[in-house]
Amino acid sequence: MILRRLFLRTLIAIALALIGCAAFGADTEAPYVVFLGTSAADLWPDKVCNCEKCTYVKEHGGKNMRRFASLYVHPGMMIDFTVTGMAGLKEWGISPGDVNCLLTTHSHDDHCHAESIVKLADARARTVKSPLKVYGDSTAVSKLRKYADGLGRAVPFELVQLKPFQEFEACGWNGKTFAANHAPDDEECLLYVLRKGDRALLYALDTAWFPARTFHELHKEKLDLAIVDSTAGPGDWPESQITHMNFELNRKIKRLMDVTQVLKPGGTYALTHLSVHAVPPYDQIHEKMAAEGFLIPYDGLKLEVGRKQ
Ligand SMILES: [Zn+2]
Ligand SMILES: [Zn+2]
Ligand SMILES: [Zn+2]
Repeated sequence: MILRRLFLRTLIAIALALIGCAAFGADTEAPYVVFLGTSAADLWPDKVCNCEKCTYVKEHGGKNMRRFASLYVHPGMMIDFTVTGMAGLKEWGISPGDVNCLLTTHSHDDHCHAESIVKLADARARTVKSPLKVYGDSTAVSKLRKYADGLGRAVPFELVQLKPFQEFEACGWNGKTFAANHAPDDEECLLYVLRKGDRALLYALDTAWFPARTFHELHKEKLDLAIVDSTAGPGDWPESQITHMNFELNRKIKRLMDVTQVLKPGGTYALTHLSVHAVPPYDQIHEKMAAEGFLIPYDGLKLEVGRKQ
């Protein structure tokens, strides 16, 4: 009797261990993203502004609160990191040691904040010996190098410069850069496609209407997830379309991606970098945009790359 119980207990323990392994395996294998932030440079909520939108956000909080746009891509990858990055990591349970590579889209402080990136590299170095690999265009890399040099000590990061339309490998991901249409100066701001196995995602901010070559090169991709700049939301005043996009331009790009199947059937098109004063709060906008086939992400949203929403 005792032997039979022992045998049964052993069987149950083995079964539980196998289930645990399978769950762990699934979790570590399937790529997913976590939106650490979804705001444009005018961060939610504007503490001194008492307009209707800011007041709603302050009163209702939750999914209406947005940090600066930043994306964790599991495994190992982060895209853009700023002053709200560390708080986002803490709140959504991601350890700095989970981030091995950081891609920066461009040098603007709401995407590439030197002090915050050094903090991330330092925090990571407490548990991981190898340096954080930080990628960016020449302007972003120069900015980070200058800041690190000014500290007068070794920063545990390694800077890698990228140009538009460059294939690269980083932290187990196959990546490609694309030209953005954003900088009023000579900065070559970058958009990214990341591929792993048969899954792929696009991170396209900050940018206005894509340059022709970017459209052309994107036609070679098969995306499960497109995350695209929609700073001006429903706004369509001309100035808002010079360096960023709105819902209307995204409708056109989505239509093109659907027709050409650059976005796989059933793929997800998400709008981010949402301006405080141009885009209504999450509660008031997400259902309306979902009816049009757009995902409005909120901070903390975890999304498997390739899972139908
Ligand atoms: Zn921005
Ligand atoms: Zn306001
Ligand atoms: Zn920018």
